[in-house]
Amino acid sequence: MSNDSALDQPVILVVDDDHVDRALICECLKSADFRVEEAVDGSHALEVFRTVHPHIVLLDVGMPGMTGIETCAALRHLPGGAQVPIVMVTGHDDTDSIAHSYEAGASDFMIKPFHPLILTQRIRYLSRATHAFLALTKSAAQLRYAQSIAGLGSWEWDPRSDALQSTDQVARIFGMRPEHFPKSFTGFLELIHPEDRTVVQKSLHDGLTTKHHCSMEYRICLPNGTQLIVESQARPIRNDLHGVEGMAVTIHDITSRKEAEEKIHSLAYYDSLTGLANRHLFKDRVGQALAYSQRHQAIAAVLFMDLDRFKVINDTLGHEVGDQLLQEVAERLKNCVRMSDSVARDTDPTSQSCLARLGGDEFTVLLNNLTHSEDAACVAQRIQRELAEPFHLGQHDVFVTATIGIACFPMDGLDLEALLKHADTAMYSVKSLGRNGYKFYSSSMNQHAEQRFALEADLRRALDRDEFMICFQPLIDLRTGAIVKAEALIRWHHPSLGILPPGKFLQIVEDVGLGPRLGEWVLRAACTQARSWLAAGHPSIQLAVNLSDSQFHDAQLTDIVANVLAETKFPSELLDLELTETIMFRSPEHAIATLQSLRILGVELSLDDFGTGFSSLRHLQQYPLNALKIDQSFIRNIAENERDAAITRMVIAMAHGLGLRTLAEGVETQEQLDFLRELGCEVVQGFILSQPLAADLFLPFVAKHIATGAGRRFTSFRRFAL
Ligand code: C2E
Ligand code: MG
Ligand code: MG
Repeated sequence: MSNDSALDQPVILVVDDDHVDRALICECLKSADFRVEEAVDGSHALEVFRTVHPHIVLLDVGMPGMTGIETCAALRHLPGGAQVPIVMVTGHDDTDSIAHSYEAGASDFMIKPFHPLILTQRIRYLSRATHAFLALTKSAAQLRYAQSIAGLGSWEWDPRSDALQSTDQVARIFGMRPEHFPKSFTGFLELIHPEDRTVVQKSLHDGLTTKHHCSMEYRICLPNGTQLIVESQARPIRNDLHGVEGMAVTIHDITSRKEAEEKIHSLAYYDSLTGLANRHLFKDRVGQALAYSQRHQAIAAVLFMDLDRFKVINDTLGHEVGDQLLQEVAERLKNCVRMSDSVARDTDPTSQSCLARLGGDEFTVLLNNLTHSEDAACVAQRIQRELAEPFHLGQHDVFVTATIGIACFPMDGLDLEALLKHADTAMYSVKSLGRNGYKFYSSSMNQHAEQRFALEADLRRALDRDEFMICFQPLIDLRTGAIVKAEALIRWHHPSLGILPPGKFLQIVEDVGLGPRLGEWVLRAACTQARSWLAAGHPSIQLAVNLSDSQFHDAQLTDIVANVLAETKFPSELLDLELTETIMFRSPEHAIATLQSLRILGVELSLDDFGTGFSSLRHLQQYPLNALKIDQSFIRNIAENERDAAITRMVIAMAHGLGLRTLAEGVETQEQLDFLRELGCEVVQGFILSQPLAADLFLPFVAKHIATGAGRRFTSFRRFAL
């Protein structure tokens, strides 16, 4: 027999004062391969028990001194004594002792005399049961221990009764006392985050019907407000009939794992100083952005930014201040980029911008989903404006400027490397020109953006430098042949580009917010000019002035018009303000109120470029207008194109029906003129009469018109087939 099997041999402690009986029992057990220890009385039994830790005790009831029953009770109180099977041995007539022995903790009874075979079989059975019980207890304890180390609990759900049976570990994970833990699945659901409940419910029901395992991850909201993230594996519990009678679910607290994962992710993808994306994430985002831009034929831009003289700040004020500055710069940059995202064309996350710090004082911005490359310049300007405000760092006020280079996809490069390189090149070219600026990487597309921004810079100075001038284009009354009106049309005498028409700069004027200022200038200059015609003896020439979008929406408009009229002493009834449909119909209530207040001043109001907008007859009725000016796009083909002819005819009839006069612009040919006269159009404007004229040429033109009787050509009626 090996040592191991000797140790495996069950140890039986036989306690009996009668040495014959004891010897018989011992022999019998030894021959059945048990290890046997003996004790002659109760106190001896306690002593032996402490040293040998027997698996089973056979205890005689009737002993002198400490009786069997007292010994049994004492054994139960010894370490390891609570679980040991104690078999009492007594005579068959001693039923009283039997009852007392059970009270003292006996496990079983054997009545003397007994057959050796029955004794050994009984003890063997008991030994096996004890072994199994101890193994089970041990493994349950191990399981509990393992579960508590792993933060793992489990519960079972019986869908018929909704009962939920959980291990104490589940309650421990949830920070609850086991008795407070829900006893039904419905109660348990209450603890699950409302957004995750349906998924958990559905997974378990699916498990029941498909008999498949499933795993879930969901949030638990504890009554104290904390939130846990748990992971569950659910397994169907099968019955003997191959049906499923419930689900067994393990539950694992993975909150800290998730937090760690997030931390790792953040370390891998974010700059720890500023919280911005790092190079790695930036690269990722640029990849997505370029794919998006390609699909949507949008423009993406990479801005490469470097703080000017950061090294000096860092060296003189210390790294701590330097770090703080970088953090605050990052915050301001976030604002700039957030603003550009808020006007993005759609909400697809891959279309969003990304801001990164590549290291040191180098920042990059990815702008995605742009319509024009100019938009990137707007962001660059915004960044420079934001950074222009001083930074308050401790007791220092620090001023920084930034130099920015811009490269656009697809014009300047098709991948991150090319774009970064070109943005970097552009940035260095600004640095060489003295820093604190931005520049597009040069390519033909971006030269356009540069031009626009150069023009913008020039525009800001143009008013002060008196570079604008007004031309006047005459309008003729078809019934009398007289020149009855002059439309003021602005021109910009650009110092290097020459005379620019409004189409080249008016939109920029609006974009940079100069609209109201320039509009007021035009109004004042035009009224002053027209006032001089009055003085020269032309009392019936009206003046038409165009109003811009921003002017019309300027709350001061009526006051400004009133002031200019008063200042220039120009009669209000001779002033006609032209508005376009888009200006008026954007906010009809506001438009009607503004028009009414202008009408109170006595000025006339015309709807310019009529036909290009969206106005309907019903809408028009509500506006206090005097005239409609038919857009030149209809006039251009009026003699050849049936559709344009029909529209013009309808517009004129409709205007007359509403009591409005009609004017036509862009009249170039005799056919167009005859057609319009035929339809009853009152006034025309166009090259057939004259181009817009410089101010000093206008009166001589009128004088010549009168002197030569040129007006007759416009009134004479030439018949032609309609
Ligand atoms: P508009 O008010 O519809 O002015 C008529 C435009 O048609 C003028 O262009 C004029 O030169 C042009 N035109 C006149 N007759 C003919 C013709 O027979 N054939 C052709 N092809 N064109 C003709 P311009 O001066 O380039 O002005 C363009 C637009 O710019 C104006 O259209 C007006 O909307 C705007 N604009 C001009 N001056 C001002 C201004 O002072 N303030 C504002 N807010 N807008 C102005
Ligand atoms: Mg006009
Ligand atoms: Mg027009």
